[in-house]
Amino acid sequence: MTGVEYIEARSVEEASRALTEQGEGAKLIAGGLALIILMNHRLLQPTCLISIRRLRELRYIRWDDAAGLRIGALTTHREIETSRVVRRRAPVLVEMEGQVGSIQVRNAGTIGGNLCHGDPREDPAPALLVLDAEVTLASAAGARSLPLRGFFVDFLSTALQPGELLTEVRVPPLPPGTGATYVKFSHRNALDFPVAGVGARVTLDADGVCQDARLALGAVGPTPLLCDEAAGLLRGERPSPGLLEEVARRARALAAPSSDVFGSEEYKRHLVGVLSRRALEQAWQVAGDGREATRGRGRQRSREGA
Ligand SMILES: Cc1cc2nc3c(=O)[nH]c(=O)nc-3n(C[C@H](O)[C@H](O)[C@H](O)COP(=O)(O)OP(=O)(O)OC[C@H]3O[C@@H](n4cnc5c(N)ncnc54)[C@H](O)[C@@H]3O)c2cc1C
Repeated sequence: MTGVEYIEARSVEEASRALTEQGEGAKLIAGGLALIILMNHRLLQPTCLISIRRLRELRYIRWDDAAGLRIGALTTHREIETSRVVRRRAPVLVEMEGQVGSIQVRNAGTIGGNLCHGDPREDPAPALLVLDAEVTLASAAGARSLPLRGFFVDFLSTALQPGELLTEVRVPPLPPGTGATYVKFSHRNALDFPVAGVGARVTLDADGVCQDARLALGAVGPTPLLCDEAAGLLRGERPSPGLLEEVARRARALAAPSSDVFGSEEYKRHLVGVLSRRALEQAWQVAGDGREATRGRGRQRSREGA
């Protein structure tokens, strides 16, 4: 067996150029968790590994009032899970990251590597999709921004072009009255990828009526799936068991799971229905609680002002 060349990139540009020069056999390596498993199983045999793990400029979490939450691609799951900025601005990401594998996995795995691996079972995508996240893809030729909903192309396949790196994940500021949640079912609580995972987001107006909603499914298709039509039924409505059941029914119909050792196709569809209802109820509750808290603060401020 021939050896694998190893290149330690010192900048995004250098990594991009190395990817282009080395051609098809070259792979970027970040946390290495997914890549090394594929190599160990001989499902992937790169001729060159380009390490980006020392690119400190890709490891950050920042808030910007206009752009929202900006997370560098090399930020680890654990850094997101424990970030005060994330907890304040997009708490659903803290909730989701706390359910990714074990602490060891969360300390090593990066958000960029997770998304670029393109495995539909991974937890971050459904939570980020309901937040309308965008990604920045950069190469030596420049950078472009892409909605995450256009990033996943097929099983283990993404919109990354040759020579491109994912450099940033951006979550725009959430409108007031928004609640979001991520629920996951796995056979062993920790350490496991989901059998199904569901992200949900609801934005309520001052009267508690739904203005906007999103629902996204993980692990039940070749890519993470956004259920726009199902979530659209909620607009202009208040929650009722019948309405949530109809949304869940449509999500079940959209899911395209395969039978495997973790469950049959039928069982996974059933899970999608249960988790979709649960996630939406929780998101609705969080949105309602947020509205009450804002109203409370408003009442307090007007008393203070009087
Ligand atoms: C035991 C175990 C349990 C796990 N459990 C879960 C779980 O429950 N939920 C979950 O969501 N995940 C889970 N994971 C996956 C883990 O969360 C990592 O996110 C994942 O392995 C990829 O991150 P990484 O940084 O290790 O990427 P790497 O393995 O380094 O790279 C993965 C792929 O992405 C490419 N890549 C990496 N970074 C970039 C970039 N910036 N730009 C372009 N391409 C890039 C690489 O070339 C490679 O193809 C688990 C992993 C293990 C080993």
